[in-house]
Amino acid sequence: MDSFNREELIAAHGDRCFDCGGPWDQLDHRIPVAAGGSHDLANCRPICMRCNGKKLHASDRRAIADFRAGRIMLWAAAS
Ligand SMILES: [Zn+2]
Repeated sequence: MDSFNREELIAAHGDRCFDCGGPWDQLDHRIPVAAGGSHDLANCRPICMRCNGKKLHASDRRAIADFRAGRIMLWAAAS
């Protein structure tokens, strides 16, 4: 469900990838939709495919670190 258009996103966040400042072609959710984040201007920002890929890898590493530290059970219980 889109609650804003591309022009509104650019007006709120600028016409650049929020991470590297280059051209963007994707939408990043600060709080992932799967984790309860909303699809609105406050939670969305422009990102490029390269940075989005880096971000995914970073969250993979974090998930693995959490699992090794035994935090995955706490996280699951909190959600
Ligand atoms: Zn980027």
